Amino acid sequence: MDFSIIISTWIVTAVVTAIVASSRGRNWFAWLIIGFCLSLLGIVLVALLPSVKTDESLRSHRVACPFCAEPILPQAKRCKHCGSDVVPAQDKIDSARNAAAKNIPEKRSDETQNDYIDRVVNTIGATRTGDTYEAFGTVYHSFGEMIKAVKKED
Ligand SMILES: [Zn+2]
Repeated sequence: MDFSIIISTWIVTAVVTAIVASSRGRNWFAWLIIGFCLSLLGIVLVALLPSVKTDESLRSHRVACPFCAEPILPQAKRCKHCGSDVVPAQDKIDSARNAAAKNIPEKRSDETQNDYIDRVVNTIGATRTGDTYEAFGTVYHSFGEMIKAVKKED
């Protein structure tokens, strides 16, 4: 087989892996690298992994009514099952996010990037698992991604 065909097939599978990863809410750049290393196996792998929850999909999920525990939309102001007035779960998420956005500290010149990340994670009440961060019910694949989402004004 022509060497250039092998190379171009290799690049195409890596790019397809990155596109599939991106459409499933994952870090496309990391998956581009994985696609280069694993070729076709990368596509299979990313297709088998569950999609990452985004803010949009979070909005369509249901939360339990605090009075009757029946599932209601996070945006609901009144429970459709028991008729109770509720504070929308989405409002709680948004206000926690807004409060956190105001409290993100600046990096000090005498601290390492890693110490700074730990300090920010503690300050805004996020959790860190390796290179993954969870804040307000959403998983982020990088520190930068989480900070951008927390600072987002809507
Ligand atoms: Zn209810």
